Amino acid sequence: MSSNFHSDGTLFIVSGPSGAGKTTLIQRVREQLEPIGISLYFSVSHTTRKPRGGEVEGKSYYFVSPDCFEGMVARGEFLEWAHVHEQRYGTSKAEVVARLDRGEDVVLDIDYQGARQIAEDPRLNERSLNVFIFPPSFDVLEQRLRERRLNTEEEIRTRLGKAIAEIDAYKDFYRYVIINDDLNVATECLKGAIIAKKLQTKTALEAISAMAERFKEEQNGRIARGH
Ligand code: 5GP
Repeated sequence: MSSNFHSDGTLFIVSGPSGAGKTTLIQRVREQLEPIGISLYFSVSHTTRKPRGGEVEGKSYYFVSPDCFEGMVARGEFLEWAHVHEQRYGTSKAEVVARLDRGEDVVLDIDYQGARQIAEDPRLNERSLNVFIFPPSFDVLEQRLRERRLNTEEEIRTRLGKAIAEIDAYKDFYRYVIINDDLNVATECLKGAIIAKKLQTKTALEAISAMAERFKEEQNGRIARGH
């Protein structure tokens, strides 16, 4: 196992309009980073929207009633939450905080409003990296939303309407923007951003510094032994 990466509780945030390809990208990146020693837990959000075909409770989302969601908001159980496409979506503290504290790395697929809330929390921001995924064009976005056949015509129009506001958010506080016009290249870009962050965490830098000290001690030991 490579000594380059450590379980140091880093939070990765991936945002971008519906149809930008975030789900596929995150899945590929998780699969490809695992063998080199970076394990990313995918945070399962709560939502008030209804499950779509193939979605699994507790895996895709926790599907909850508006009352249940409100209760969680009132009890301060969300790390961040937002109105998205006329529904509510949120990341529960229970899903993320204990994992980060245990040193697990976590990835969130959330919209820009949620990403902003995390960026504005200094303690979370310090240990996180956010990335914005751009669709190659408005036409492609529309085509992808239609082809996946998950949304009604009305939902597609709402999502396309919101895409403009979302796309404008990229310049506010995102560290990297990746254009997803070629899935393989976009996957490499996202992996690269994650790897770069992992090489710069406090734990990684401390490990390097300890290693440099060991090098020096070994060298001094050799000199002392007359080698
Ligand atoms: P969908 O309904 O297509 O699954 O998701 C719609 C949008 O909601 C996506 O852009 C996704 O990033 C965002 N989203 C999903 N979970 C959360 C969450 O927990 N918080 C926020 N702020 N946005 C979320």
